[in-house]
Amino acid sequence: MTIDLHAHSTASDGTTPPAELPRLAARAGLTAVALTDHDTFAGLAAATAAAADVEVITGVEISCRLDDAEVHLLGLFVDPGHEALAAELELIRTDRDRRGVRMVERCRELGASITLAQVRTIAGGAPLGRPHIAAALAAAGITDAFTPDWIADGGRADVPKHVLAAVDAIALVRAAGGVAVLAHPRSVKRRASVSDTQLAALRDAGLAGLEADHPEQPLQVRDRLREVAADLGLLVTGSSDFHGDRKPVRLGECTTAPEVFSALRQAAGGH
Ligand SMILES: [Zn+2]
Ligand SMILES: [Zn+2]
Repeated sequence: MTIDLHAHSTASDGTTPPAELPRLAARAGLTAVALTDHDTFAGLAAATAAAADVEVITGVEISCRLDDAEVHLLGLFVDPGHEALAAELELIRTDRDRRGVRMVERCRELGASITLAQVRTIAGGAPLGRPHIAAALAAAGITDAFTPDWIADGGRADVPKHVLAAVDAIALVRAAGGVAVLAHPRSVKRRASVSDTQLAALRDAGLAGLEADHPEQPLQVRDRLREVAADLGLLVTGSSDFHGDRKPVRLGECTTAPEVFSALRQAAGGH
């Protein structure tokens, strides 16, 4: 068995349509692949329907916070129909735009003569961000947009980001019948450095495993993570974090041992 537990499709920031993922996985010699798009299950139905020689594992990569850093949590074997999880993912996906809309409202309440339509035009179809609002404010003669008077962090028109704590993401994944694995905890590229202490806290919150073999983690980092995982009783996975043409990583470049795969499936309740 050859298993890759972390791959993206066009349903998030990959370049491979979900329906093509199983064929690609089979060609890469995989027997199982988890589709783990960012904060969405949108590609799962197409990927599952196209699965023939390869088992497609239901997954999602959830953006969440651990102390002051963003971390990514893989929810594997989850039920995509679980309401609370689906609602949370929707909130994560729409937060940037929702926040932008609220900030435009706040600016208007504070007397700025800008409109939502105008800011949408500036954004050109992208989720509303602060630079778009600042551009509209500038057009209205307000040149100190990024100050506490307006949209600086904690400013009068600032609206806090939606934050999902990693421990809550773990609880949601488990409630949805899945198993939680921390993705790339020490990715050099992401400058991620989840500490041993933080890993212990996540283990206590129900984390089942961590991704040690990941293209963005050098060999000595992977070895160190294996040691920590052994100390904490966490499973160790390997995966490519395939993004199609967006990253120079092959599907199946790193893989998960069959016995770990079985243990994860069992921890998820055997389905
Ligand atoms: Zn990630
Ligand atoms: Zn990923």
